[in-house]
Amino acid sequence: MKAKRRIVIVGGGTADWMAAAALSAMLPRQGFSINLVESEQIGIIGVGEATLPHLRHFNDTIGIQEAEFVRATSATMKLGIEFVNWGDIGDRYIHPFGTFGHAIQGVKFHQAWRKMNADAGAGEIGKYSLPVRMCQAGKFDIPGSIYRSITLSYGYAYHFDANRYAPFLRQNSERRGVVRTEGNVNVVIPNPENGEIHSILLDNGAQLEGDFFIDCTGFRGVLIEQALEAGYEDWFHWLPCDRAIAVPSAASIPTPPYTRATAHAAGWQWRIPLQHRMGNGHVYASGFMDEDEAESILRANIEGELIAEPRPLRFTTGRRKQFWAKNCISVGLASGFLEPLESTSIHPTQLAITNFIELLPVTSDMSRERDEYNTIMAREFEWVRDFLILHYHVTRRQDSEFWNYVRTMEIPASLQEKIDLYSARGRVARYQQGLFLEPSWLAVYLGQGLVPGQPDPSAAPLDLADLASQFKALDQDITAALASMPGHDHRLAEMLETVSHTQ
Ligand SMILES: Cc1cc2nc3c(=O)[nH]c(=O)nc-3n(C[C@H](O)[C@H](O)[C@H](O)COP(=O)(O)OP(=O)(O)OC[C@H]3O[C@@H](n4cnc5c(N)ncnc54)[C@H](O)[C@@H]3O)c2cc1C
Repeated sequence: MKAKRRIVIVGGGTADWMAAAALSAMLPRQGFSINLVESEQIGIIGVGEATLPHLRHFNDTIGIQEAEFVRATSATMKLGIEFVNWGDIGDRYIHPFGTFGHAIQGVKFHQAWRKMNADAGAGEIGKYSLPVRMCQAGKFDIPGSIYRSITLSYGYAYHFDANRYAPFLRQNSERRGVVRTEGNVNVVIPNPENGEIHSILLDNGAQLEGDFFIDCTGFRGVLIEQALEAGYEDWFHWLPCDRAIAVPSAASIPTPPYTRATAHAAGWQWRIPLQHRMGNGHVYASGFMDEDEAESILRANIEGELIAEPRPLRFTTGRRKQFWAKNCISVGLASGFLEPLESTSIHPTQLAITNFIELLPVTSDMSRERDEYNTIMAREFEWVRDFLILHYHVTRRQDSEFWNYVRTMEIPASLQEKIDLYSARGRVARYQQGLFLEPSWLAVYLGQGLVPGQPDPSAAPLDLADLASQFKALDQDITAALASMPGHDHRLAEMLETVSHTQ
């Protein structure tokens, strides 16, 4: 009989238990053993409350029922992010998980909207997006619940309590045979022949051997960096926010079905509604603001009563140079960190796990799989990086040194090309899109006031009277869909009811 392949995961935060849950669900049990080592003494980062719609697919894949998840993690629904004060002080727009309108006679909606807006006025583009209007109205329903095609024009994600997700996944993973060991990894023992990791030594004297190691030790990178020196590419010069202060406050009803990101003088503040509390945090650039000022801005901009002491956090935005080095991949914060503006930290964990499963080495020479994996992960990180930089760079704000810096800094060529193409004629670059697709780029470009120089020729043949009637019909369709949708709190309560009935 072929020996089992031994996978050792180090760490017990969100990334770690997501890896354990996915591997135990997707790999054949008889072929693999999965051990997870975590240190209660060190603890987890414990922030990370806003997610992307992809998390739903992850939960589905590992057999988690939505209502159970929502109850266990005190989750609420997220239809997008409201950005306040980004284009300029006083501006606001919503980046929805969904589209704006639909193509008109084969012409992209935003090009038709531009023609209509320039010639006859059409209102903000968000008026033609169902998820934007759902956010504004505080409504929520599962896409497609009512029989109108417009209700398929959006997706949704969750806001959840990060401290409750890992224990929830732990139960799920242990049921599938994952073995958890408590301990602190003190020494990483290399294989003298090839430099791969042979085993890890814990502070209690236990030694764990493995064929493959997954480093989920957070910013420490105990295996990938401290032992294997995989290197870190620092993006501080493009994304200068390097600190955060997080603090929860009392929950507020009605619960908004969206995250809010409010720009301040040297960073921005998140507001993430959960069932039992509001998550708040101020992400700021320590080169432009000190901690006392950051904390007082945060306190001054929280609506409810604080229910814990503010907690400071430090980070460096960037990515691991080699995500996979020797026989070890880094997952979660150990692989890099993209600041939380678009809730993109948990997503690379999903990508890492799925790609790793697809590329599981079949021979002892894993160099091809490793190269492919490193290329995929590097691109994904870079695409998201560019999208984040866009938010800071496309602004008219001139009210602080921070905004003057980010507005005028040199940006990566890959982003400059996208902005140039869009500025010329409203075309969103489609090649190499990565995680964020056309509606997301449009939401930020238009929301932050970047209007293309030329009208697009594709929209020229459209008849204005015909456009006006199509826009009116779309607005009416959205209004009718909204009218038949429940409020967010009502829909959440219905979902939670289904769990209490099945217990
Ligand atoms: C300010 C901020 C805001 C964020 N907001 C969001 C958000 O809104 N959305 C989002 O998707 N993500 C967000 N994130 C990211 C999110 O918090 C992380 O991606 C997520 O928590 C995963 O963390 P992790 O499991 O990689 O690391 P951690 O939570 O740091 O866990 C590391 C684990 O490794 C263990 N460990 C460390 N060293 C050792 C050792 N020597 N031996 C044994 N075990 C060890 C620890 O005990 C712990 O269990 C945010 C992060 C920050 C900093």
